[in-house]
Formats: sequence, structure tokens, C-alpha cells
Amino acid sequence: MTLFFQSNPLKIVQGIGQYLYDELGNRYLDCINNVSHVGHGNPRVAEAVQKQLHLLNTNSRFLHENLSNYAQRLTGLFPEHLSVCYLVNSGSEANDLAIRLARAHTGRKDIFSVDGAYHGNLTTTMAISPYKTHKLASYKQSKWAHVAPLPCAYRGKFQRDNFAGDEATVGRLYASLTEQVIEEVRDKGREVAAFFVESMISCGGQTPLPKDYLRQLQKYLQSIGSLLVCDEVQTGFGRSGKRMWAFQLDGDDIKPDIVTIGKPMGNGFPISAVVTTREIAQSFGNINTEYFNTFGGNPASCAAALAVLDELEQNQLQKQADEVGEYILEKLKQLKSNSTVIGDVRGYGYFIGIDLVRNLESKVEAPEFAQFAVERFRQEKILMSAEGKYGNVLKFKPPMVFNMDDARLFLNVLTKILDDLEKQPLKCTLNQGSDSSRRSIDSVHSSSSSASSSSWLDSSMEMDL
Ligand code: PMP
Repeated sequence: MTLFFQSNPLKIVQGIGQYLYDELGNRYLDCINNVSHVGHGNPRVAEAVQKQLHLLNTNSRFLHENLSNYAQRLTGLFPEHLSVCYLVNSGSEANDLAIRLARAHTGRKDIFSVDGAYHGNLTTTMAISPYKTHKLASYKQSKWAHVAPLPCAYRGKFQRDNFAGDEATVGRLYASLTEQVIEEVRDKGREVAAFFVESMISCGGQTPLPKDYLRQLQKYLQSIGSLLVCDEVQTGFGRSGKRMWAFQLDGDDIKPDIVTIGKPMGNGFPISAVVTTREIAQSFGNINTEYFNTFGGNPASCAAALAVLDELEQNQLQKQADEVGEYILEKLKQLKSNSTVIGDVRGYGYFIGIDLVRNLESKVEAPEFAQFAVERFRQEKILMSAEGKYGNVLKFKPPMVFNMDDARLFLNVLTKILDDLEKQPLKCTLNQGSDSSRRSIDSVHSSSSSASSSSWLDSSMEMDL
């Protein structure tokens, strides 16, 4: 496992709201923690869990009003057709169950995901997570798992620059390309149970889906009897500011068959969910004896999740993410217009990516600039990290309690860092200290060691999952 600031990790001992405190009492502004959605140490969540733990916490083979209340409130936040939910314990479990549901409903086995995607740490979900598997030299792709192109409107096969900024054209072209790739697989006699996609792509580089991409793909998937699964593990619960679920960003006619959620759901207390249609749940019920999950939907996790919804609603945190996020995006776009290192600024609300490049024309990724920026942010007591296939995208995903003052501080510091990078890019990246150089060694080291340690799994014995 890689830590943040691997060669000089932080020991964090307390969190309050959008701030984290290390063992020496230093306070850091947290711009990366999308789990502590309603704030670190949130009193309402802590009290709800504590009260429930004192009273009762057991498996879900009893009736409990926390579970039924939560299931009702949660499904009430989704479009009408998504009326059934399964409560589980992690994003990985949710995606694994989504695979099982899709297979049960379609009677097919194959799954598509998008290049750069991460869907979880289980054997099944790793197989559909190119973000991880592409780093393993010896990895042998499971026969049932296929990869579609990352629909990035900035770099990639279809770039908005080449279509006068028209993202809808880009989205439709990527959807058509994806259809082609799926057809190639079908031509070989394989049928596709489901297409998995994050509603905004996270690990792959903080990339929102271009307009019309999901719309066109949804029609195609329906025509071939395959399901659309939207992974909202990172993007759900209002993070986009605009909508509760990021798949809704392109319009209410986008109707995934299955949605998976997790991370922020219990503000750090483990709980996640799969939300789907009654028909799909019925198909699953017909061919499985039962789905039982010891900890899924336990009273304490549901108490945490209910408190998260209360906090979101009462403090209007989605609205805050929208307003402050818009402000940040606007300022970032201004910074970009004068910058030779910001290639792209993208996102919504509190899900923003700043794509750093060595050259605006060639769009060559600059992971060393991103690493320099992350280190400099840390010196200024702001926690940021870098994402994307090449680690060159600064990711901004703070707790939803992040406010306008925080935004101003973040932007001031970023402006200074960009200034340094603009003036002396080489000096910055050469002088950034041992962390980045060690990081590259670390990453080579960890990828080679993980390759060998997991080669038993990746070798010729493709498992029948
Ligand atoms: N899906 C996405 C999009 C994720 O980002 C993650 C975790 N980073 C997962 C699934 C897996 O969630 P978990 O770590 O809770 O199993």
C-alpha cells in the first residue's frame, strides 16, 4: 500500500471538519478526503453511531428500523426506476454484487469497463480495474473482462480542441468507438452482461464524461440487452454540486440499470450499497438462494448513513459544493489562461482535476510538476494529491464542509506554486527534495514487487469467476 507522501508520511491524529491535525498539532486543510463527506469528526455522525453501539449492533437477520428507514430514504434520492437497494460494506463489495446482479439478469458473463477505471480490490473488481492491472507486467486479462477507451475530451482520440470545443460531438464519437469495441467482442461470440463506468472518472484523471456519451451508449446497450452500471462510489451524495448523483449531470433521461455507492455514505463508517430495479433484483432472487451479508446494513452503519443524509440536507452541503466549486473552477480557468503548465481544468463542484503538462501543444503529461505541487501544498499545510494514469492530474475532492475561505486560501497557494513552476520549471522539479525522486523509485519498486507477489493470480490460471 502506498501512503500519501510515501517517503515522509504524515501521522494524523485528529480531524475536525475540513481540517486534519498531525501529532505535532499542525493543522492541514484537507482537499482530498472524499470519505469524510460531512466533515472529519462530525458530531452528529459520531453521536448517532455511539448511541446505536450502546443499544444494539448485530447482523441483519432481525427487523431494524435503521435499515428500513435508510433504505427508504436512499431509494427516495434516486429516480423512480431504481427502487431496490442492497446494503453492503465497501465499494468493492458493491461492485462485485453489481456484477452478480448483471450476470443473473442477462444470463451473460462478460463485463466492460473503461481504461483507467478502478472498481475495487476483490478478484472480480480487480479484473475490471485497468488503473491497477495495467501496472502489473505479468497481468493476464480475464477472458470475460474488456476495456473500452477512456472518454477524455482533453487528450485521447477525440479532443474537444479538434471540434471547436463541442463536447457533445466528442461524447458521441467516444460512444461510437466504444460500440465498435463492444461489437468486436460480440463478433467473437461473447455477449456482454454490463458496461461499468464511473459517472465522473476518478483514478483515471478526474475526468467528467463528455456530454451525450452516456446518452448514446445507454441506447446502444439497451439494443444489445446489456446493462449500464454507474459507479458513484466517489462521485455520489452531491459531490458534483449540481445533482445528487453524477450520472444525472447529462440529464434525467440517463437511466442506469444499476448504481453503486460507498465511500462518503457513512462518513468513514463502513457502509455501501447497490441500487437497482425491481426486475433485476427479481432475476437475482430467482437464481440465488439468498444474498446474506453479516455486516451489510447493520444498525450502527445505518445510523451513520442516516446522520450523513441529515447533515447533507440540513447544512445544504450540495449547494455549497456547487457555489464554491463554481467559484474555484472559474478562478482555475483564469489561471489556466495565463499558464504554460495547466493543460486542462475540469470537473464539477468538489470534484476537480487540474491536468499539468510539459507543453501545451503536445499535452505531454507532467507528473513531476504535479508532485512538486503536492509537496509545496504540504509545506503550506494543504493536503492535495495527484491522479491519473501518469500521475499528472492534481485532484481536488475535499470534504463537503470546505468553504469559501478555504477556497481562497487554496487558490492563493496554487497561484504561488504555479508561479514557481512557470518561472523555473526545471529548478522546481530538480530541487523538490528527495520525496519525488524516491517516489519514482518507490513506484517502480512497488509495481515490480506487486507484480511478482500477485503473479500466482495473474498467470495462466485465469479463474472462472
Ligand atoms: N469504485 C471507485 C470508483 C473507487 O474509487 C473505489 C475506491 N477508491 C472503489 C470502487 C472501491 O471501494 P472500496 O475501497 O470501498 O472497496
